[in-house]
Amino acid sequence: MKNEQQKKISDKLTKQLGYTEQEIVNINKYYNSSDRINRDFRHSGYPADYFPWEDVAASVWNNPDDITYIDKECRVCGEQLVKIKFKSPQWTWRQLCGRAGNMILCVNCPCQIQFKLIFMN
Ligand SMILES: [Zn+2]
Repeated sequence: MKNEQQKKISDKLTKQLGYTEQEIVNINKYYNSSDRINRDFRHSGYPADYFPWEDVAASVWNNPDDITYIDKECRVCGEQLVKIKFKSPQWTWRQLCGRAGNMILCVNCPCQIQFKLIFMN
């Protein structure tokens, strides 16, 4: 983890989504597997506008250096918004359906506000 602010954002997203330690392990296993394995964790329960929250959370945990605050606030809760570089799970790249791009999040709501595709295969 590069700095405290990024760790704080990452921890808050984990807390808001309500994942247990075991779910975090399973989500990371799924995210980092190059074969498509069965998802053995529950879904977050929050609406996912662009990608499943499990994949977004794993992207945040696995790419902590790519988290930054931006100069905009959430229209719903007023919290400062965050930009991440989202990267879809490893198996999606192997199966030629990988996606990567900039995603704007409200970590507090939590809400996926915007996604701009930069790279796909
Ligand atoms: Zn919000």
